[in-house]
Amino acid sequence: MLDLAIEGLGQHLRGRLVRPTDPDYDEHRALYNGMIDKRPLGIARCADAADVAAAVEWARTHDVQVAIRGGGHNGQGLAGVDGGLVIDLSPMRGVHVDPLRRTVRVEGGCTSGDVDHATHVFGLAVPFGIVSTTGVAGLTLGGGTGHLTRQHGLTIDNLLEAEVVLANGDIVTAGPATHADLYWALRGGGGNFGVVVSFLFRAHPVSRVYAGPAFWDIADAETVMAAYRDFLPDAPEQLSCFVGLKTVPMVDPFPAEHHGKQACALISCFNGPADEGAAALAPLRDVLPAPLFDWTGEMPFPDVQTLFDPLLPQGMQWYWRGDFVRDLPDAAIDAHVEHARELGPGALSMMHLYPIDGAVHRVGASDTAWSKRDATWSMVIAGIDPDPGGAEEITRWTKSYWEAVHPYSASGGYVNFMMDDGDVDRLRATYGDNYDRLVAVKAEYDPTNFFRLNQNIEPPAEQAQAGSGTVRPGRGDTGRSAAR
Ligand SMILES: Cc1cc2nc3c(=O)[nH]c(=O)nc-3n(C[C@H](O)[C@H](O)[C@H](O)COP(=O)(O)OP(=O)(O)OC[C@H]3O[C@@H](n4cnc5c(N)ncnc54)[C@H](O)[C@@H]3O)c2cc1C
Repeated sequence: MLDLAIEGLGQHLRGRLVRPTDPDYDEHRALYNGMIDKRPLGIARCADAADVAAAVEWARTHDVQVAIRGGGHNGQGLAGVDGGLVIDLSPMRGVHVDPLRRTVRVEGGCTSGDVDHATHVFGLAVPFGIVSTTGVAGLTLGGGTGHLTRQHGLTIDNLLEAEVVLANGDIVTAGPATHADLYWALRGGGGNFGVVVSFLFRAHPVSRVYAGPAFWDIADAETVMAAYRDFLPDAPEQLSCFVGLKTVPMVDPFPAEHHGKQACALISCFNGPADEGAAALAPLRDVLPAPLFDWTGEMPFPDVQTLFDPLLPQGMQWYWRGDFVRDLPDAAIDAHVEHARELGPGALSMMHLYPIDGAVHRVGASDTAWSKRDATWSMVIAGIDPDPGGAEEITRWTKSYWEAVHPYSASGGYVNFMMDDGDVDRLRATYGDNYDRLVAVKAEYDPTNFFRLNQNIEPPAEQAQAGSGTVRPGRGDTGRSAAR
């Protein structure tokens, strides 16, 4: 019955409906995290906003659970759903740069690499993450941290408006003047409120940067981390620098004599010329021992954005945990280094501490849904293994590492680094005083919790029970109504 009905959706789409019988079904259902295997009823590969609205309406009418797919990078595999419909925006990859206004219109299926490619030619960039294959949509809706965060804020701090397909199929524009409550909630509240078909971002002058990684032996890790902690608060905001614990990958171009060594890395990115970048880093580098190797140098911004890509292809096993961190006492550093020492020579697993100070702190905690404006870092511990047989071990390592350092953390965690830990208490801690307002916006825009495969903000129980498959009538507002 449902099989027949879904064929009707397929005929309606400008894009394509992929079914389990199609030869490329496995290709399109595959998620970035190879540890997660989901078999949807269908994958609606949308060509435009009208396709997205049709997919939403079809799923709502037939009471079928939906997953939204941007770049497919979510650790928990939220872009897939067993027996449901994947609304896949990955064919929607248009980017339009307005160099005079310094704005960029980005379709909902773009990766950050798509946007860097389009903006770099104008000497501009939008702050995104540090791996270019990550989807703009999921990253943005959760917050978005990366090399430009200290200088220009989170990705959401640069979001000017978003075009959204709501649970009732309406298409609205959320911005400061229209659907301001939705605009507020989208900036950190994840995929709870609708499908974002396009984003309008503010871009910044970024062209060549002084950037790259430098690695130290694990024996120097305590020294490097403590010096880094003390250096960061006074470092100029043009300079981003995050610290990592990992092993030196056993592949070219990493120096063969260091392959498989446990290490501490500083990955820097100064938005400006090399001499100024070197001067900005000097107070830190001057107090550190000699690194194993140092690849910091001048390069085009898209080069630093793609530096990690070859090491992190789709399909590996991932298990991660994150926390927000305000201070890094020596005892916390000791716990970090102790767990990093457990990594074997071939391990890809790592810990990163991404700075979220500078411009992030100049936005008020209640100005956007993302509330942890007083944290210094967003920490991620990621167990990563290409071998499916390693899934259990990376999960064990990550959990035991996280449990050891969690007591030194601020409350809550970055929703984009949650795995199976995103329960309501953790989300309440993450959103703090903003949580109740998020519930109110959810109740208004998605009262039946139609969009629930996410770090879920549940609407009040009575509304959710009012019936799946029924949402309030169209809003008849500033947005265009989907043709139905
Ligand atoms: C290798 C790697 C590197 C990363 N680096 C960073 C980093 O530097 N900085 C950082 O902040 N994060 C980083 N992340 C985390 C990343 O932000 C999350 O994994 C994010 O969920 C990825 O977004 P996506 O669109 O690729 O995910 P998807 O799996 O496609 O989507 C995840 C969820 O986002 C929501 N969603 C996706 N698209 C839409 C849409 N169009 N409309 C509404 N909701 C939508 C849905 O709820 C969906 O379930 C990284 C992740 C990986 C795997």
